[in-house]
Amino acid sequence: MLITGPVVEKQDILIIGGSAAGITASVSARRYYPDADILMIRKEKKVLIPCGIPYIFGTLGSPDRNLIPDTVLAKNNVELMIDEVVSIDRDNRTVETRSGKSIAYEKMVLATGSLPRVPPIPGVELDNVFAVWKDVEYLEKVLNALDEAKDLVIIGGGFIGLEFADECKKRGIANVTVIELMPHCLLLACDEEICVRVEKKLSERGIKVLVNTKVEAIVGNKKVDYVELDNGEKTKADVVILGIGVIPNVQLARDSGLEVDEKEGIYVDEFMRTSDENIFAAGDCTRKRCFFTGRPTFLRLASIGTMEARVAGANLFRLRHRSECPIGVFGTVIGDLAIGSAGMTEREAKEAGFEVVTGEAQAADKHPGSIPGTRNLAVKLVFEKDTRVLLGGQVFGSMTAGKVANFIGALIQKRMRADEIVTFQVGTHPMLTASPIAHQVENAAEIALTKP
Ligand SMILES: Cc1cc2nc3c(=O)[nH]c(=O)nc-3n(C[C@H](O)[C@H](O)[C@H](O)COP(=O)(O)OP(=O)(O)OC[C@H]3O[C@@H](n4cnc5c(N)ncnc54)[C@H](O)[C@@H]3O)c2cc1C
Repeated sequence: MLITGPVVEKQDILIIGGSAAGITASVSARRYYPDADILMIRKEKKVLIPCGIPYIFGTLGSPDRNLIPDTVLAKNNVELMIDEVVSIDRDNRTVETRSGKSIAYEKMVLATGSLPRVPPIPGVELDNVFAVWKDVEYLEKVLNALDEAKDLVIIGGGFIGLEFADECKKRGIANVTVIELMPHCLLLACDEEICVRVEKKLSERGIKVLVNTKVEAIVGNKKVDYVELDNGEKTKADVVILGIGVIPNVQLARDSGLEVDEKEGIYVDEFMRTSDENIFAAGDCTRKRCFFTGRPTFLRLASIGTMEARVAGANLFRLRHRSECPIGVFGTVIGDLAIGSAGMTEREAKEAGFEVVTGEAQAADKHPGSIPGTRNLAVKLVFEKDTRVLLGGQVFGSMTAGKVANFIGALIQKRMRADEIVTFQVGTHPMLTASPIAHQVENAAEIALTKP
């Protein structure tokens, strides 16, 4: 039910934020606490599927085709209020909203998410320079600007930047250029040899990629005209999209006196409790520690946020689950090339101080390879050298890459060794998987196991 009136009874559970983490926390809370009153407050009338945002610009065509339906809340008997929480009084356990409502709570989940990072580049405030705000009306403005555009510049060659590039190409934008500061696109998620394959695919798709390149300024008179690069060159731009990551949205938590690090997020323990035992937090707004090193990590993914939300939702009145530190499991597609990645890359593992051994294997994704639609799928696994514990895996080729990356993610989270992986009984089927003889993960593990 959508609550609109001024008077709201005390809520057993109050969820602030209505995207991936807020929704998941409310559904989990309902499962564990069937009799509780649950109220969600979120700012936006319509909630976008955040991971689907790039696809609005090509495959989907409009934000309205990329929404999370509110029926999920109704089905779980979660009440909804469209409003903004402007303050929390922790002593009296009440919140105030922008429209002047005061709501009391027993337990709260903060799922206030993240905001796009806007770099301090001169000219970033010009018209037609857009960050990726998760907001329907804002994205409609981006669509309108792209309708008039011939030259698009995307700053940032991570997965969001590349997805935008590919989708805008599908939309028919003539000149799409991606500008990346690092030596390769996707370098935080993939090893160099895979990044090179991705860049080749981008170039086949007619997308220009400039690596090792910094944007010094965005230039124009009111509206962007071109971007100026650190090598002195200029790249024409009718529209610029900034795809350089997010920052945790911690303002409400900070103002209410919760322990917060502005850059890293809201402090939480492994049960997802903040520094106030009645307030839990989950999703992009929380402070995270790397699964492998325990150091701060800036990974912000729906896979991590929803896991945290399930833990928070379950633990509100009784501790049940502990959250896991982020591994970083994700996938993307450029043209017909799918890429999946889980855990650390070889480069990242070495930089973190591990000695590693790798195993690579590739095979057709169906068997026999004469089945129509068969594609190649390659897997690279990264193990710690002495223990042969799995640290990471990358997958590329056919559209099964995402599922295989998830399989590898589970092996990593369970800290599996190569000798354990090779004794797995992996189910296969001609239409669905590689041959059992050629199964890429099994073979890559065996190759790594038998290396000196
Ligand atoms: C373009 C793009 C593509 C992505 N693709 C992927 C992908 O393929 N796979 C993947 O795993 N991850 C992906 N991500 C990351 C993923 O979207 C985020 O990890 C996820 O959205 C985090 O969810 P969240 O609920 O924590 O926060 P958010 O999605 O940021 O939502 C925050 C919510 O809090 C509400 N809110 C904030 N402050 C208040 C307040 N004071 N009062 C009331 N409500 C408030 C907002 O209105 C919103 O509802 C992508 C992100 C983007 C931007």
